[in-house]
Amino acid sequence: MAKGTKGVLTAVKKVRGGVKVDHRKNTADLEVVRIPTPAKVVIPMAMHIGAPCEPVVKVGDTVAVGQLIGDSDKFVSAPIHASVSGTVTAVGDVKLPNGMMSKAVTIESDGEMRLWEGIKPPVVETREDFIKAVRDSGLVGLGGAGFPTHVKLNFDPSKGIDTLVINAAECEPYITVDYRECIDNSWDILSAVYTIKEMLGFKKVVIAAEDNKPEAFRILKRIADDQADTDDEVKLMVLESKYPQGAEKMMVQSATGRKVPPGKLPADVGCVVMNVASVAFISRYLKTGKPLVSRSLTVDGSAIKEPKNVRVPIGTNIGDIIEFCGGFSKEPYKLITGGPMMGLAIVGTDLPILKQNNAILAFAEEDALLKTETDCIRCGRCAMACPLSLTPTNIVRAAKARDVDTMKRIGANVCMECGSCAYSCPAGKPLVQYMRLAKAILREESAKK
Ligand code: SF4
Ligand code: SF4
Repeated sequence: MAKGTKGVLTAVKKVRGGVKVDHRKNTADLEVVRIPTPAKVVIPMAMHIGAPCEPVVKVGDTVAVGQLIGDSDKFVSAPIHASVSGTVTAVGDVKLPNGMMSKAVTIESDGEMRLWEGIKPPVVETREDFIKAVRDSGLVGLGGAGFPTHVKLNFDPSKGIDTLVINAAECEPYITVDYRECIDNSWDILSAVYTIKEMLGFKKVVIAAEDNKPEAFRILKRIADDQADTDDEVKLMVLESKYPQGAEKMMVQSATGRKVPPGKLPADVGCVVMNVASVAFISRYLKTGKPLVSRSLTVDGSAIKEPKNVRVPIGTNIGDIIEFCGGFSKEPYKLITGGPMMGLAIVGTDLPILKQNNAILAFAEEDALLKTETDCIRCGRCAMACPLSLTPTNIVRAAKARDVDTMKRIGANVCMECGSCAYSCPAGKPLVQYMRLAKAILREESAKK
């Protein structure tokens, strides 16, 4: 690990590639506000990577906030809880923001937001208790990944995993909810850092933030300097503001100098990466026992009348959230859940908010139009921008020719779809679409075997 003064890693390990993007953190100074209780929530049973849940309630049931409404017996999954109190009015199929269908539980709110009487802080004395508590909380990666957190934390202690990296980079433009978490809930982060470290036996914790967030840095430094850290095992690392610094593999390399090989995970080089809001949530859950039933998200973009950071019950209709932000100021031409680089374009607002959605962005036509596509000028900027050292032009060529062997050889399947290549391309080539096509062809071919 790079050396530095107490609490701070001064030597920043730079990662290759990436792009300088306009940060547009317009909502950074806006505290998170709760939206009024929605009249209805639609809570999908597929809100995480892994097996979807099965509903455990039926139409007509009365439910309270935090009550279990969906679960799965599969390991890679996370339970789902009621986000408002009221009556279950439907258990059926719903379209997700990604266009897939999922079972969902609809709850008509009674407006009371009554907490379920079974909510109490978990008893956590051992590593196993801790992992079970994280599972029971329903936590999934709040930075957008949606991977069940208990699965990530349930590593084999004999495998030499020694470093917890806490991701506070928030490198996507517009999104500021992790920044607000650092400012508004720093004590939750502090308390969880030591609990997770102790429960899972990490030797080091690195909290990594970009250098464009001085106030968050000041607060995080206080955490890193805390008296409890007598052995100086909790460090803050300042990263150059560059997209995609927050990508897991980049984060691990910056924080530890360890390179995650293609097709491998941070755990393969002794690291676990957690989003800072997920860490803060664990602290609150251990104190209260209230599971993940709401989340913060940034609502911004040139078509939003009053950009805000809001806290919403899971399953709230995106249209209701936009309405709370004053509605549209202009005709929205492009709607996105997540950031503009890696987020998901959606076709309308009649969709529920999922656990992993950290932003809703709406852009007017003039801000959403793609560059006109022209011929490739072989400038090489796409390859220079790729943090994984891929050569996008070769992948495009192989994808067009359905040349599976070449796609495998040049690593098309490891592309993380960060969009740095497309962002850099002066010819307006839709490179990410080609990367997705290449990966889809590879998946198709492997399914045939
Ligand atoms: S989208 Fe894929 S190919 Fe393009 S820069 Fe990101 S990782 Fe590299
Ligand atoms: S950046 Fe665009 S124009 Fe330049 S080599 Fe790559 S695809 Fe071609």
